[in-house]
Amino acid sequence: MDIMDILPFTRPSIDDQTIEAVTGVLRSGWLTSGPKVQALERELSALLAGRPVRCLNSGTAALEIALDLAGIGPGDEVITTPLSWVATANVIVLAGATPVFVDADPVTRNIDLDKIEAAITKRTRAIIPVDLAGLPVDRDRLYAIAHKHQLRVIEDACQSFGSSWRGKPIGSFGDLVAFSFHANKNITTGEGGCLVLPDDSQTSLCERLRLQGVVRHADGGMEVDVAGGKFNLTDIAAAIGLGQLPHLAAFTERRRHLARRYFDLLGQNSGFGLPPANFTDSNWHMFQLTLPLANMHASRGEFIARMRERGIALGVHYPAIHLFRLYRGMGHHEGEFPHAEAIGSATITLPLFPAMTDSDVDRVCEALRLTLKESLT
Ligand SMILES: *Cc1c(COP(=O)(O)O)cnc(C)c1O
Repeated sequence: MDIMDILPFTRPSIDDQTIEAVTGVLRSGWLTSGPKVQALERELSALLAGRPVRCLNSGTAALEIALDLAGIGPGDEVITTPLSWVATANVIVLAGATPVFVDADPVTRNIDLDKIEAAITKRTRAIIPVDLAGLPVDRDRLYAIAHKHQLRVIEDACQSFGSSWRGKPIGSFGDLVAFSFHANKNITTGEGGCLVLPDDSQTSLCERLRLQGVVRHADGGMEVDVAGGKFNLTDIAAAIGLGQLPHLAAFTERRRHLARRYFDLLGQNSGFGLPPANFTDSNWHMFQLTLPLANMHASRGEFIARMRERGIALGVHYPAIHLFRLYRGMGHHEGEFPHAEAIGSATITLPLFPAMTDSDVDRVCEALRLTLKESLT
């Protein structure tokens, strides 16, 4: 099959105006961080209850800087979920701290809030919750635990831009919040991200950590008092983001519509494990099924290959982090987090993106039905 005929699991929607705006930046002579980044920060802040927002060149950078701002380093423990993109745990390791995993809830697939308190020790400094697939972690319960134990929260909201909790946008409240604008995320800048800060007390430090620790003086001189990194966003990328934001509500609405159609067509007895049917809070960053592997002779890899022969690309997001070699080397092992392991080994991500048609969903569901029938023992 021609690769162009294969339905991808995601694809960004970039309008012509945005392409024009990027062209304008290229013609302007100012490519790196400048007026477009400042404009994007203002618009993001306006969407997030006026909280301070600083753009960065990735969601990972936002998490790294958040850990730095929270003062987390060697000897500290940070609680997180094993079911996420590996960046969530890698940033804890890079900070010199120890990731402490807490198993996933089998229904939400997010960190099991009932199990967090048992993982808290004298060394615990922070929790990094992840809104997997865009489904928000219960913020009331999360912040109740954090306040009770005086822990910082660094929300890995890389997948949940456009999601909300009790009607409030994720990022408009809470402690430090990291978003990603990677090409596969609901709103993209190609590569990019941003950090939302709880108040203005650390915005200057955030800016210094973003770019070599440099503070520029009016007379052309400069000073450096912290070893910052290189995390600034380009104006080229910011122009893409500025062109994306006006579509946020429509993108989320379209994703919810497509997700509803998946539920309708798959039905309760599809044989697959379904995600929670949340149409108020989730931005439906992904629609993920779990395969009934115990009843299948085919592996997940074979299932994915057969779907591809039918013209449908599936994704895998994600294998459990603690079973990667790096984390096994820290003493982690199979059987430690049974729910995360079961989901991580059986999960598949269906195509879901705003430009998808209703009939694309129909085609995916028919291919799923046929492929599962062939795969069952
Ligand atoms: C995408 C993602 C990240 C990292 O974002 P990048 O922009 O790719 O660095 C971190 N955590 C989660 C849950 C993600 O989905």
